[in-house]
Amino acid sequence: MLLFKNSAETMEGVLKNAKHATNGKPNDVKPGDIILIAQTKSTLLTGQKPIRWIMDFVSCEEDEDNLSNKIWGKHWRYIISGENVRPVEPFDINEIKMTSKNYGAAQTFAVIEPEDEEEVLNWISEGVKTYPHDTDIFSAEFKEGKTLDHDELIKRLDLKYRNTPKFKETIVELIERPTLLSNAIKEKYGYKCMICGYPGFLKKDGKKYAEVHHMIELNKKAPETLQSWNLLVVCPLCHKKLHYSDVKSEFLDPGWKIIINGEEHTIK
Ligand SMILES: [Zn+2]
Ligand SMILES: [Zn+2]
Repeated sequence: MLLFKNSAETMEGVLKNAKHATNGKPNDVKPGDIILIAQTKSTLLTGQKPIRWIMDFVSCEEDEDNLSNKIWGKHWRYIISGENVRPVEPFDINEIKMTSKNYGAAQTFAVIEPEDEEEVLNWISEGVKTYPHDTDIFSAEFKEGKTLDHDELIKRLDLKYRNTPKFKETIVELIERPTLLSNAIKEKYGYKCMICGYPGFLKKDGKKYAEVHHMIELNKKAPETLQSWNLLVVCPLCHKKLHYSDVKSEFLDPGWKIIINGEEHTIK
């Protein structure tokens, strides 16, 4: 996950073209990774949050056609191409981050730390019911006139994050967002904290709120850490405890034994 900054002036060009520009090349970014489109603080209106839009990363290429000049009236060395520009509940990463990383210090872009990425994924969680139902996205064998239930979706997302080479392109397209798995897991467990049993609270949009914790730190180089075995549905308080208190854990395959400040919890 990356954060890209731009001013209010250049925002329209970013959103319309699903493109960004930079002079430094970001490393360790893969197609499908989420890009947070952040507006520079000095160009925000009063009360406006810097991040209101996200998109998915497609590619980063040298701007040989001077496209940056055409879009923003200034030349940049690289063009970042994205897709699926979409609005999110506005936020400021500095208000939700876990780490002490100063994202404000970034020139054009910053890599989001795994612990902060988890917070962002919780914040922007895109409802599980928003995945496309278009028949042309489902391959024939999965179509069968029915929509996926949570268990089926979780199964397929687990397959995707195992990086099976033969995995169907169409399904990869459908489920490439990690937020889909977080949401499917939340739905499956009814937004109830797997540690303390707190049932989740209602948000102003009428949907329930819970968070997802990755027992083993999110690591894009090890896609299996994105799989459901590694995810726990938790309330905000237990989530903070998992990050900040004395925690020991053991994978029971399936489930976990977790000891938080000496108190043992067994999770099936
Ligand atoms: Zn809890
Ligand atoms: Zn966590």
